[in-house]
Amino acid sequence: MGLIVQKFGGSSVADADKIRRVAGIITKTYDAGNDVIVVVSAQGDTTDDLIDKAHEISKNPSRREMDMLLTTGEQISCSLLAMAIQEMGYPAISLTAWQYGLTSDSNYSNARIKSINDERLSKELDSHKIIICAGFQGINKYDDITTLGRGGSDTTAVAIAAALKADLCQIYTDVDGVYTADPRKVKNAKKLEEITYDEMLELATLGAQVLCNRSVELAKKYGVKLEVCSSYEQKPGTKVKEEVKTLEKMLITGVAKDNDISRISVLGLKDVPGEAFKLFTLLGQNKVNVDIILQSIGRDGTKDISFTVSKAQMRNTVDLLREKYPENKVIHEENITKVSIVGAGMQSNAGVAAKLFEALYNVGVNIQMISTSEIKISVLIDSKDEAAAVESIHDAFLA
Ligand code: ADP
Ligand code: ASP
Ligand code: MG
Repeated sequence: MGLIVQKFGGSSVADADKIRRVAGIITKTYDAGNDVIVVVSAQGDTTDDLIDKAHEISKNPSRREMDMLLTTGEQISCSLLAMAIQEMGYPAISLTAWQYGLTSDSNYSNARIKSINDERLSKELDSHKIIICAGFQGINKYDDITTLGRGGSDTTAVAIAAALKADLCQIYTDVDGVYTADPRKVKNAKKLEEITYDEMLELATLGAQVLCNRSVELAKKYGVKLEVCSSYEQKPGTKVKEEVKTLEKMLITGVAKDNDISRISVLGLKDVPGEAFKLFTLLGQNKVNVDIILQSIGRDGTKDISFTVSKAQMRNTVDLLREKYPENKVIHEENITKVSIVGAGMQSNAGVAAKLFEALYNVGVNIQMISTSEIKISVLIDSKDEAAAVESIHDAFLA
């Protein structure tokens, strides 16, 4: 018995039957004597459909208006879910971010949470209501609505759990936990009983969308007990925590892929000090987020620098570089995927990179760029090789 925050993703509340099923999970938790705060995402593909609608009107809609539009999705699902719970004879109330007091900065479409004022939430809990919060949204200092970035309802749930010192935050979704790779794409993917915050953070950042990376960051910072579980089957999910049992410690914890990435190269730069400094200062000043960087060895007095950015930033970055580097060739490639392996175990084991490269060689996949850190290795490959590469890497380490 205690306070439990439960978050339900879009597919879990996609239609009336699913909403009723979710209401059943919530009321069962309430009947067991817990206080329950629920966070919901928009139903099914609502957010994508709303984005399409905006693009029918404008090629480049204002981010403020986009947030105004997209937050309607969560307002629909939270009110419907409250109605379903009331139909079952339980006291429920739906609240938007304005009402439950979640403030954010003003970075529309990707705002960061600033604070949660627990007054209203505590008041509703005191009167034994089941609270249904619209996820993914915040209110900025101008009293405007913001959104927290795609997948942001996970972050709402963890932030509320942290603010109210909840005993547990459960993320209910359409799979029954975190797997060693996307279980919809890799047939031998295995469910993990538990995973560390650090490994989950890497996996989420590198493309495993089962949890939004910011939610994991917050959970680690505030020590929120987090569990990923299924909306469809009642069984233990995956626990995300500071440390896991040594028995579970594997060389590699998981494989992730990300295709929201494109590669840009500036060719024929002078092979003198300061060129990289100049280039990346320009990108920084223009708020371009750079991921992997590769510089070729200088030859005949020139060198090339390549780097990756998100697909959304590619066009503007190429235009900027063509303007500022008229003497150089600027080329770009969009059909690329970043495939990564993550695992704390690789810190103390030699030969992990070689094994990864062998797995790619075995399926004839060429590597374009490589990047490593303490607990991950990423490679950039042609998108057409993505499925074969992920499967081969997964099976080499985890099958
Ligand atoms: P929700 O709508 O509930 O937020 P998401 O679609 O955001 O759900 O996340 C769940 C999906 O994440 C799963 O359907 C699965 O395909 C995908 N996924 C990617 N990598 C993993 C992984 N390592 N473990 C589990 N699911 C993963
Ligand atoms: N509805 C939002 C999205 O689709 C937020 C979320 O689902 O977490 O990204
Ligand atoms: Mg999600």
